[in-house]
This record gives sequence, C-alpha cells and structure tokens, in this order.
Amino acid sequence: MLTNHDAFARAAAVIPGGVSSPVRAYGSVGGDPRFLESARGPYVVDVEGREYVDLVASWGPAILGHAHPEVVDAVQRAAARGLSFGAPTVAEVELAEEIVRRVPVVERLRLVSTGTEATMTAVRLARGITHRPLVVKFAGCYHGHSDGLLAAAGSGVATAGLPGSAGVTEATAGETLVLPYNDLDAVQAAFSAHGHRIAAVITEAQPANMGVVPSLPDFNGELRRITAAHGALLIWDEVLTGFRVGPSGWWGIEAASPAGLPGWAWAPDLVTFGKVVGGGLPVAAVGGPAAVMEHLAPLGPVYQAGTLSGNPVAVAAGLTTLRLADDAVYRRLDEVADTLRAEVHAALDRAGVPHRVQHAGNLFSVFWGERAAEDGVLTYTQAKAQDTASYTRFFHAMLDAGVALPPSAFEAWFVTAAHDDTAVTRILDALPAAADAAARA
Ligand code: PMP
Repeated sequence: MLTNHDAFARAAAVIPGGVSSPVRAYGSVGGDPRFLESARGPYVVDVEGREYVDLVASWGPAILGHAHPEVVDAVQRAAARGLSFGAPTVAEVELAEEIVRRVPVVERLRLVSTGTEATMTAVRLARGITHRPLVVKFAGCYHGHSDGLLAAAGSGVATAGLPGSAGVTEATAGETLVLPYNDLDAVQAAFSAHGHRIAAVITEAQPANMGVVPSLPDFNGELRRITAAHGALLIWDEVLTGFRVGPSGWWGIEAASPAGLPGWAWAPDLVTFGKVVGGGLPVAAVGGPAAVMEHLAPLGPVYQAGTLSGNPVAVAAGLTTLRLADDAVYRRLDEVADTLRAEVHAALDRAGVPHRVQHAGNLFSVFWGERAAEDGVLTYTQAKAQDTASYTRFFHAMLDAGVALPPSAFEAWFVTAAHDDTAVTRILDALPAAADAAARA
C-alpha cells in the first residue's frame, strides 16, 4: 500500500515541497500531508484508506460537502458537451445573473479562474480608473499571490513567517501601503499623507487568512467614507466570505446591519469572488457597478483576459452549487459552526488551554495562548503572537482521531452543509483528548 509518507517523498522529488500550494505541506504543524484519494459529503479519504471528517472543505469552496451528486452530474453533463470553447456560453451568463441577483451592488462582473486574478484585475481597474499608483492593503489580509498584494499577506505567507516574497521588486512593493487592520487612525494618516496618489483600499470583507479577525463596528463603513472623500476605490475581497457566510456573502450581512450609513453608502466599488462561486472548480469573479466595470476591455482601456475564463465545465459546478445553496444550506452551515465554536471553546476551557475563538458569520478560528485569550485579536501583530505550538499538538491529536483541520493556526475552519450529526459527533468526540494534548506544553 502507498503510504502518505511514500507519496510525499515521491512528490517532493518532482514538485517543490511536494505540494501544488504551500500551505498543504504541513509546514507549520509538521508531519506528512495527507494525500487524498477521494472525498464525499463531510469526509475525505487518504491514500492509506483512512477517512477523516474534513474541516478544510478545499479551503472554502465545498459548502455543500464534497462531490454533491447534483454538482457532479452537472459537471459530467457539461464535460460531455465539450471541455472548453473559447467562446461565450449561456451558462456563464446564468452564473453572472445568479451573482448579480445575490449581490445587487454587482451590476456587471467578469469571470476569471482564480481569486488571485480577481483581485489583480480589481486593482488594475482601480488604477486604470483613478490614474493613481498606490494601493492600501491590510497586514494579515491575503488577496492571492500577485506581486503587489503579497506584502504582509496572511494565509501561507503568515504560516511560513515570510515578510512577503522574494521576486517582488522594490518598485512594486513600494506601491502597496500596508496598514494594521482595524486601525482607522492609520488609514486616515495614510490618506492625509498620500490621498491624491491612492487608487484603492483593498480589504477582506472579513479577514480570515490570519485566523478570523472580525472588523470593528463601522470599520468597513469608515473605509468607505475615507476612500470616497479622497476619490479612491474601495475593493472588498469576498473570495473567502462570498456565498459562504450567507446567500449574499458578507455583503448581505453588512446590508442587514448598515452600521449607521443609510442605503448602500457603505458599499464597495468592486467585489471579488472565488472558491464557492466555482463549487470546487476554477471559477472566480470581479464585479461592481456598470460604471466601474465598463472600464474593462473590450469596452474600456483596462485589459484583462483568460483562455479558460468562464470555462463551461467549471461554470457548471459553480452555477449548480449556487442554485443548491438555499436558505437551508446556510442555516446548516451556521448551525454546525455555532456548535463547533461552542464545543471547542468548552473543551479547551475544561483542559485549561488559554485561547480565544473568533468568528465572522460561520467562519471561525481559534487563537492560542494567554495574550489572545485576554485581549482578543484585532490585528496581524496580535495574531502572530499566538502560541502556535498548542495548535500543532491539537491539530495532530484531531488528525489521529480522524478529523482533518487546516494545517495552520492562521487559517479559518471550514464547515459544510453536509456535516450531519454523525460527522459533527465524530468531531466532538475527538475534542477532549485533543484539548488535553494542546494543554501539554
Ligand atoms: N482572496 C482571499 C480572501 C482568499 O482567501 C484567497 C485564497 N485563499 C484569494 C484571494 C486567492 O484566491 P486563489 O487561491 O483562488 O487565487
């Protein structure tokens, strides 16, 4: 039988680090990554035939659980009609219509293949519209791996403890202003000093790539006020939150509580989507009001393109996923997340492990250590101060018990609507021993 260890060794001989994306390598928790062979519902199965309850969900897309039969069927039917045309299709129009229906601030959108492309295009649009060079991002927010957005990024960059990345020129890095999250004074100061040169502020609608760090009340609203006052665009990155935290993503949650601003006065100029919007295949999108989006080629001067953009097989997965993601799905996602948050917290308390569970909608993560427990985590600096060694012990105890968590303390935990009571019970049963393991320094 091929073991995970053998598979990893073989992979490392031909693929840098043995993985196609860094955080899969278990770099911060150690050990052999599980090489997966199949996945169904809330479970994944590795090459050794071991089944795990999955709390990674492909890093977000699998809100219906893995390999939902109707999604698989739609993909198979689309594949039989042709894998890629390089021409427009009605299905991509239907997907665009579904997104526009759910997020009305999006009047026009362009389909791309990855979240990285979506945010890269959003930034280019902002620069093309404003004719300004600078972009403000927040430390700990991850917007994909385009050069300018890697500065002080979360996700794998946080996990590896890298300051940014080699290979990014100083000139490019110099066009990104990195500010502490949740710090409006810093935003005001940046705009006072450079306002006439700032094209856009890009922010995760709710940061979930340094662990989950919710925005302070009206942080997003103030970003809107400040950017509007200076003629800069506001970009919400909903690659992770979009269509996961609710039927309209974080947009819908913020719309329900407009933080003191009337109408859509808080609304961003551009929104990026990924993950759920492709239902597990490569689809992402950038959208916004028509007046903004019509700066894109072929209507406008801002160029953007993709051979596989709007790929018919990928679109079938995304469209079917969104059509199936009804209120019952979101209720179940919230229910499972609420239960896990409460039970993880209780188990860690019982074991005497200092921690803080933070959440934004159904996205949550645990910050480890006294400091996080006492003060909570509002910034990347605070997130990085957590005790990752506790998480490593917790992670491996859960894995040994058949529960696959994200292999980094800086990632959100992802539930699916397929996490039925059996799957949830398996997670809960694993918690006491894992909490004890976390407690053993
Ligand atoms: N933005 C956010 C908020 C993300 O979480 C991610 C991926 N985790 C991206 C952008 C990049 O998406 P992709 O990996 O599809 O390029």
